Amino acid sequence: MKRDLQNIFTNKEYDLLIIGGGINGAAIANIASQQGLSVALVEKEDFASGTSSRSTKLVHGGLRYLENFEFDLVKESLRERYIQWKSVPHLVQPLRFVIPVYKGDRRPLWMMKLGVFLYDLLSGKYVVEKHAGLTAEQVVAAIPGIKREGLVGGVAYSDCRMDDARLCLENILSAREKGAHIANYVQAGSFLKVATQLTAGANVKDLLTGQEMTIKAHHVVCAAGPWTNEILRLDSPSSADKIRLTKGVHIVYKEKISDTALLLQAGKDNRVFFAIPFGEHTLIGTTDTDYTASPDHVESEKEDIEYLLVETAKFLPSAKLRRENIVTSFAGLRPLVFAQGDPSKISRNHVIEKNESGVWYVMGGKYTTYRAIAQQCVEKVLGKKLDLGTDYSLYGSQGQRKEHRGLPDQVYQYLFSKYGYKAEDVLKLVEKDKQLAEPLCTCSPAIKAQVVYALQNEMAVTADDIIWRRLGIGYVFCASRQCRKVIEEYCEASRR
Ligand SMILES: Cc1cc2nc3c(=O)[nH]c(=O)nc-3n(C[C@H](O)[C@H](O)[C@H](O)COP(=O)(O)OP(=O)(O)OC[C@H]3O[C@@H](n4cnc5c(N)ncnc54)[C@H](O)[C@@H]3O)c2cc1C
Repeated sequence: MKRDLQNIFTNKEYDLLIIGGGINGAAIANIASQQGLSVALVEKEDFASGTSSRSTKLVHGGLRYLENFEFDLVKESLRERYIQWKSVPHLVQPLRFVIPVYKGDRRPLWMMKLGVFLYDLLSGKYVVEKHAGLTAEQVVAAIPGIKREGLVGGVAYSDCRMDDARLCLENILSAREKGAHIANYVQAGSFLKVATQLTAGANVKDLLTGQEMTIKAHHVVCAAGPWTNEILRLDSPSSADKIRLTKGVHIVYKEKISDTALLLQAGKDNRVFFAIPFGEHTLIGTTDTDYTASPDHVESEKEDIEYLLVETAKFLPSAKLRRENIVTSFAGLRPLVFAQGDPSKISRNHVIEKNESGVWYVMGGKYTTYRAIAQQCVEKVLGKKLDLGTDYSLYGSQGQRKEHRGLPDQVYQYLFSKYGYKAEDVLKLVEKDKQLAEPLCTCSPAIKAQVVYALQNEMAVTADDIIWRRLGIGYVFCASRQCRKVIEEYCEASRR
C-alpha cells in the first residue's frame, strides 16, 4: 500500500478530530469544515461500513414513534426528510407506502387513519405527499396478491427512500472538498492526554500499512455508533455503558412483491416492519433484538431471516416466498441511548455530551436526523448557534448535465442516480478510455468506469467497499458473479 498518512496527519494541530466515519461523523466533518475548522476524521474500516449502510434506507419521520408520543422527534425528522429530499434528490426520493389493516389488528383502522393524519399535520409545509384512507378494494388494487381475509381497509402515506452508504460517502467527499483530512482503515487506539488529563488528540494506527501516529486536536468527537461503549472505555476503563445495542436484520428478496412499499404489523409480536420495492427486488426488515456481543461480529441469524419471511408471507400468501429466493441479508446495530425496557420502545432521540476528559460523544439518533445532529454537535464544539438554513447540498448536488458520450440512456440515467452531477466525472473517464464504458456484468447497468472512479476518487480500498458501498451491487441478484470478479481484478491492479 502506497499511502503515507503520517505526512498528512502529523504536520498540524487540528481544531477537530472525529473518530468514526459513519453518517454522524461524516456530517460533523462536513459542517465543521464548512464553518472553517481544520478537521481530521479517522474510520477504522470503510465509511458507512457500520450501521450507516445497514439501515432500512428510509429518510422518514417514523410513523411508529407517534404511538410512543415522540412528537418532537417525528416533527424534527419530517423537516430533515424534506431538507434532504430537496438538497440531495439523486439519493433521497419520495416513496408511497400502504398499510393494510385487518380485523383484530392491535392498531385498528381508526388509529392508523389518525396516525397518518397527525404525521402530515406534523410535516406542515414539509409534507411530501398527502395521506389517504383506503377501502379494502383500494388496498387490493394497490397490492394485488395481498391477503383478503379479514382486510378492513388501509391507509396510504409518503416518506422517502435513500441510498444510505452513498449519502454518507457524499458527506465525506464534501468535507474533503472543503479541506478536511480524512482516512478510512485507520483505527483510534487510545487518547492523547495532556498533564491536566484532558484529551488533546488520539493515537491511531493505519490498518493498511501498520503505520502508527498521533493526531493532535483541540477538540475530539467520538461518533463511533455501536462502538461508543468501547471508546468510552479507552478513555476511562471503568466507564459504564452509555448505549444499548439492538440488532436489526434485513433480507433482500429476489422478486418485487409489490410496486408500493408496505408497512406491515407482525402477527407474532405486533411490531411493525417494512417490505419495500428495491430495484428489481424487495427489501424486507427489520427485526429488533438486544445484542451484547462485539459490534465487530454482528450477523443475521437463521431465526431473524425466518421471522421476516414468515411474517411477510402471512400478508402475501400467493407470492409463495421461499428461502432460496433470498438474494442476501444484512444485520446492523442500533446505537441507542441507554434505557431499560422493550427494544422497540426505546427512543431514537440523540444525546451529545462531553465527558470529564473533554471528549464529545454523539449517541443515539436516526439516519434521518443526521444533519441536525451534526449541526448541534458543531454548535456545542464552537459554543455558538449556527444558522444553516434548509439547503444541505452535497458533493453531487450541483452541476450541469452534458450529452450521453455514446452511452445508452439507461446507463446515463443510472450514473446520475448514483452520483448526481458528479456523474460527469465518471463520464470524463469514459471519454479518455472508451473501454471503461463496458458493462461490469449483466446484473446491473454499472460500467467499469465506476470501479476506476471509486478507487481513484472515492477512497475505496477493497472489493467490498465497491460492491456494497460505492456501487451497491451486493444487493443485486447475480448468477454469474462476473461483476465481483472484474472489481476484484481492478482492486488487485490498484495495489500493485
Ligand atoms: C437495522 C437498522 C435499520 C435502521 N433504519 C433506519 C432508517 O431506515 N432510517 C433512519 O433514519 N435510521 C435508521 N437506522 C438508524 C441509523 O442507521 C443510525 O442511527 C446511523 O446509521 C448511526 O450512524 P453512526 O454514524 O452513529 O454509526 P455508524 O454508521 O456505525 O458509524 C460509526 C463508525 O465508527 C467507526 N469506529 C468505531 N470504532 C472506531 C475506532 N476506534 N477508530 C476509528 N473508527 C471507529 C466504525 O467502524 C463505524 O463505521 C437504522 C438502524 C438499524 C440498525
